[in-house]
Amino acid sequence: MALFSIQRVPGKGNGVIAASKITKGTRIHAESPFITLPKLDEAPNAKALNDAVLKQLRSASRGDQRAFFSLGNIHGKTLPIPLGIVQTNALAYGPGGEGGVFLMGSQFNHDCLPSARTKWNDHLHKMTVYALRDIEPGEEITITYINLETCDVRQKTLQDGFQFTCSCKACTLPEDICKEMDADIMEIKTIEGFLKSTTEPLEVCLRFAYRQRYLIESNALDFAHAPDTYELASTLAAIHKDYIRAKIFSERHLDIVTTEGGLDHPDTRKQRDMDDYLGSLLEQHHGPSVPYHFSVLGLEDWLWMQHLPEVKDLEEESSEDVESSDEAREVWSEDEDGDMPAFDVETLD
Ligand SMILES: [Zn+2]
Repeated sequence: MALFSIQRVPGKGNGVIAASKITKGTRIHAESPFITLPKLDEAPNAKALNDAVLKQLRSASRGDQRAFFSLGNIHGKTLPIPLGIVQTNALAYGPGGEGGVFLMGSQFNHDCLPSARTKWNDHLHKMTVYALRDIEPGEEITITYINLETCDVRQKTLQDGFQFTCSCKACTLPEDICKEMDADIMEIKTIEGFLKSTTEPLEVCLRFAYRQRYLIESNALDFAHAPDTYELASTLAAIHKDYIRAKIFSERHLDIVTTEGGLDHPDTRKQRDMDDYLGSLLEQHHGPSVPYHFSVLGLEDWLWMQHLPEVKDLEEESSEDVESSDEAREVWSEDEDGDMPAFDVETLD
């Protein structure tokens, strides 16, 4: 039974609708590019590009040609029609920046909090679509066209690139909540920059990483091209020769790449090898002593190095910088004394 069908979606033209319940991690679709385009830096002029598209179209079946011409075209008469369709629907794929049009893949609509992820699988030489969470029958299956950005930037990028206004859940939040979410997104990005360049001790890095993970989870941004905190946390722990934590973060990162790209994706294989390697380092240096006797919360506190004296000093120094009006932040971050830890990157510079 087909997992989905193409149907009219109010205000969006066509969309991809789940025909039955699709569970997280299911490969919904895999497809080779129908039209392939030169790499961006080798792009010829518009006429040559249109001719290249026409040449590929001529060798396609009637059915595929019809499917191609039924795709959206936001360029109207400003471009030759085949080129307009290509410019509207092309997706980047491959490590060299190649682009292509996917007859089915191009039908997935955008949502800033999507339910699925497109990922190029160089091993299969196909674009795959995986369910990032369980999807109910009748629900539209969506992907994101853009990176994690604040609301204004998302709307401008979508308007400039695709000529539509997004009315997803994240883009239609009440203004005050939207502002809070934007502030959280900025903080997620700031922490990302900090973690990628820091030489601070591991406990400081992990407390920022914990904050980033919290911001991503509490805003449900997991699927919005948010940074994968676990990947960076694993790398940082490994650099500091903390192989126990590196291995646990690596297992969580492996879960994510498997969900997004499947077991046969080169990224998944690479991460599985890395995970095995960390496992062997762990046995060599520490023995298999991951503290599974902890309660779930105890394990998380230990894993992210919460409540450690070295970090507490830092908290006390700059706890005044943190807004105390933000209830959610208070709930997650209060320590036993009710003090707010500081997560201000500036204080570390
Ligand atoms: Zn949106």
